[in-house]
Amino acid sequence: MKKRMSLISMLLIGTLMTAALTGCGKDASETNNRESINQVSLLQGLTFGDYNGSLSAKEVKALGDTGIGTFDGLNGELVMLDGVIYRAAGDGSVEAVPDTETIPFCDVTFFDNDKSQTLTDVQDIDALKGALDQKVNEFGSNRFYMVRIDGTFKEMNVRSELAQTKPYEPLAKVLETDQTFFDYTDIKGTVVGLYCPAYMDRLNAVGWHFHFVSDDRKYGGHMLNLKFDSTEAKWDYTDGFSMVLPENEMFNDFDLTVDQSDDIKRVETGDGE
Ligand SMILES: [Zn+2]
Repeated sequence: MKKRMSLISMLLIGTLMTAALTGCGKDASETNNRESINQVSLLQGLTFGDYNGSLSAKEVKALGDTGIGTFDGLNGELVMLDGVIYRAAGDGSVEAVPDTETIPFCDVTFFDNDKSQTLTDVQDIDALKGALDQKVNEFGSNRFYMVRIDGTFKEMNVRSELAQTKPYEPLAKVLETDQTFFDYTDIKGTVVGLYCPAYMDRLNAVGWHFHFVSDDRKYGGHMLNLKFDSTEAKWDYTDGFSMVLPENEMFNDFDLTVDQSDDIKRVETGDGE
């Protein structure tokens, strides 16, 4: 296993207002609890620099057992797996966070292995997205999906970011200086991926967003690229989406009519320039 850290920066994102779009005539609480993507704040709030944690890790655990996000102060990438919330920190380390840790942005759900897909000879992230998109087209492109890919990865490229102090700068600016990159080879672990449909462009990043954590729980981050021979993707097919908005002045004063799509793209791809 090889590791590289280059200094250069980055990302990711309570009281409450719930906007729930649930479906299918199921009991609303059941739908929210099990079959819904539950999001804390919106990526566009994070992009503006609202890194104020709003929900505790304990509260987030009531919303799901699998997901992605970030921590208070933009202190690392959040990967939730099997009910445990991990921080992939800017220094490359990984830890399970205490229940008191707070979270400004995340998307979580209770993972059910509804469908499986065999993936072979995946050379890069675009090949992975292409293969997954075939299933999205088949299942329906206007829904939300959480995928979980357990396997051995010939290459795994991730990034994280250094914790920020107030006053918080916008995300794109933070990325220019405080993003950290880590490259691993022949590493066993799990990729957690979220698919958001096109109509989510004002609330999150459209398409796929992946985070990774290794089997030994020592390495992880926001996934920028990967390569692997063969493994299986497990799909959780969800029926609903719900959102919890933060209660803080910074969030309340944002002009969210401003189009931030370019910034979001840069944030997702790790291109801080
Ligand atoms: Zn991320």
